[in-house]
Amino acid sequence: MARCDDMREGDVYRCERCGLEIEVVEECSHDEEDADETCRAEEFVCCGEPMTLVEED
Ligand SMILES: [Zn+2]
Repeated sequence: MARCDDMREGDVYRCERCGLEIEVVEECSHDEEDADETCRAEEFVCCGEPMTLVEED
């Protein structure tokens, strides 16, 4: 369940169905004082399913 507000710089997310991988190069910033400007934190979906965080070791 990848939402923009918990995606961190350098994280890689993968779609288990098609193999698409995306890397976060810039984190989302939520400004509490500017509520109207904040993005709605919704799941990133590919092929109809939430993208999953790729664990690197
Ligand atoms: Zn996909």
